Amino acid sequence: MNFNTCLLHGNEAEHYPDGATLVPVSQSNAFLCETIEELERVFSHKKAGYAYSRIGNPTVAAFEQKISRLEGGIGAVATSSGMAAVSHTLLSLLTPGDEIIASGCLYGGTIGLLDDLDKLGIHTRFVPRLDPDTIQASVSERTRCVFGEVIANPALHVMDIRAAAQAAHAAGLPLIVDSTTATPFLCRPLSLGADLVIHSTSKYISGSGNAISGVVVDGGTFPWDSVRFPALRGFEHAGRLAFLLRLRTDIHENLGGCLSPMNAYLGILGLETLGLRMERICDNAARLARELQKARVDVNYPALDGNPEKDLCAAQFRGLGGGILTFRAGSAERARAVINRLHCACIASNIGDVRTLVLLPSTTIFSKNTDRQKADAGVFEDTVRVSVGIEDAEDLIDDFLTALASAG
Ligand SMILES: *Cc1c(COP(=O)(O)O)cnc(C)c1O
Repeated sequence: MNFNTCLLHGNEAEHYPDGATLVPVSQSNAFLCETIEELERVFSHKKAGYAYSRIGNPTVAAFEQKISRLEGGIGAVATSSGMAAVSHTLLSLLTPGDEIIASGCLYGGTIGLLDDLDKLGIHTRFVPRLDPDTIQASVSERTRCVFGEVIANPALHVMDIRAAAQAAHAAGLPLIVDSTTATPFLCRPLSLGADLVIHSTSKYISGSGNAISGVVVDGGTFPWDSVRFPALRGFEHAGRLAFLLRLRTDIHENLGGCLSPMNAYLGILGLETLGLRMERICDNAARLARELQKARVDVNYPALDGNPEKDLCAAQFRGLGGGILTFRAGSAERARAVINRLHCACIASNIGDVRTLVLLPSTTIFSKNTDRQKADAGVFEDTVRVSVGIEDAEDLIDDFLTALASAG
């Protein structure tokens, strides 16, 4: 099945009550059992079923299965936010003294989380870009994983997933990728060698900016072992499911970052139109980037002519460049003037919405980061980030060109 068909059909396991075409929202904390023995079996995971919605919920499970299938994984755990997906993943694998190799171009919240982990004794070695050379040069005896974003938000560097995975595997390390900005429409990282793929499904997957949510999918290919990863002790019997089981039955259950059934439902609803929206979003972003380039604006869009990432977009994303572009306005003052003159694009801190959203990263999503962290992430005081929506491209182009012209 091709992408859009797969989003709608092909899961024989989906039989909903009364023939409903959509999964019901199981907005219930607890689930009844016939006998106490049955509840005991569900609790000890000896019988499939649900006991309590922090631990498992049918609507959330349907969302997990859909994303896992789409990414080609062996299973998924959905979380209350993208940050919960990242933090639960790292906390399931790592123990004090362990090291992470990560790209310095990361979402601001993830950089903050890695700072938090540092206080728990889990140290990150940042590299300018994840590639075989920087990975090899940073590996130590204590390294336990390699982490990066497929398209860095907002630096817009593209990871060569195959090359990064080969280098990580050569050092015996799993490659964990945050694919929020790429979405399964641009690429399926597990098929290119990544071991775990994370999404903030708050963004393109929910699609209308209506539900904070996240997910982590395991590709089932990494040989988890409890010698290298003492956190996985007690899960050896699970074999290739060791990570997912540790995540689901320890960290996720105990930290409590569970996804609400309603938000899982909104994620499922969003997934159905992901292909349609991404096609339009990528087309709009490419057209807007080209027009800005023609108007001599210093624009960054991965698939644009002259951009160093263009070849990788061709090889890895069928030539697409995603939905985010940035441009430098010349000064912080002019950036503000341009943003405040936009009529069609909305000033808001989000990406992946159907509406075009703009902000100044330096003073908003990166306001808590150091100047060094900002520079590493490609955030300058005059950088404007645009998350392109599904409006008519002509209106967007007109909006930006008019604002730029009137801002002087
Ligand atoms: C938004 C985002 C996150 C965090 O997701 P939330 O759902 O807001 O917690 C993580 N990574 C990337 C790339 C993001 O854009």
